[in-house]
Amino acid sequence: MSFQGKIVLITGAAQGIGKQIALDFAREKATTILFDVSEEALEAAAKELSQHSDSHYFIVDVTDPVQIEQAINKIIDKFTKIDILINNAGITRDNLALRLSESDWDKVLDINLKGAFLCSKACARHMVKKRSGKIVNISSIIGIIGNPGQVNYSASKAGLIGLTKSMAKELGSRNICINAVAPGYIQTKMTEVLSQKVKEQMLERIPLKKFGKPEDVSKAVRFLSSEDSDYITGQVIVVDGGMI
Ligand code: NAP
Repeated sequence: MSFQGKIVLITGAAQGIGKQIALDFAREKATTILFDVSEEALEAAAKELSQHSDSHYFIVDVTDPVQIEQAINKIIDKFTKIDILINNAGITRDNLALRLSESDWDKVLDINLKGAFLCSKACARHMVKKRSGKIVNISSIIGIIGNPGQVNYSASKAGLIGLTKSMAKELGSRNICINAVAPGYIQTKMTEVLSQKVKEQMLERIPLKKFGKPEDVSKAVRFLSSEDSDYITGQVIVVDGGMI
């Protein structure tokens, strides 16, 4: 699979799944553009990616429409287009619903859901003009099955599936495909914090008897970003080792 000549924008790309997605696109010769909030981590990631292909970064908080707009204007000025957008930035602030603060509800919904809406809106405007584009939203199996202690996260990831399906219907006639990937348990900093007991319980529920790696998510993302999926839109691919 080659993405030579493609301009790919990935949010939350300084580490974890987003960085892996960016790295795999770079290995396949795409020009990668990384959005994240930590300059140090962004600079290190972009440097690593530059060994494979052209890579640029912007410090962009995906909840800030002004920062998004300014960065996207610069990208369009330089490259004239954005072919592929991967909405990957996401956080957790776990607590039981009865103890969950309003601010932790808002923060998770703002980054995970509103951030994807704002970035999609800003990119889709340019994709519509080109009559071409792919958007992949990183949801989660928790948005499909729910999870105690994660009402905010689950709602945000379920919301992303609704966003995916609705935007796919709105933009299909403009040849823009919008799909989601719903990972299960993937080994990153986000899941590192779980206790050994929770990890063991989780493993028991995974038919393939192993945790996923960022590469497993990245493969599904690249399929949904490639010509191989040109007749697929509004869908969710679950990458969870058979867990749900
Ligand atoms: P991660 O290692 O924490 O990476 C997420 C990245 O997003 C971080 O670099 C983070 O920066 C960045 N970010 C946070 N807030 C942001 C904002 N407002 N604007 C821009 N970037 C922001 O997490 P991950 O495990 O790779 O997860 C990536 C995505 O996959 C998330 O959407 C997550 O919900 C989803 N997912 C993960 C798993 C899993 O098992 N790991 C499973 C299902 C779905 P800072 O760290 O500096 O805040």
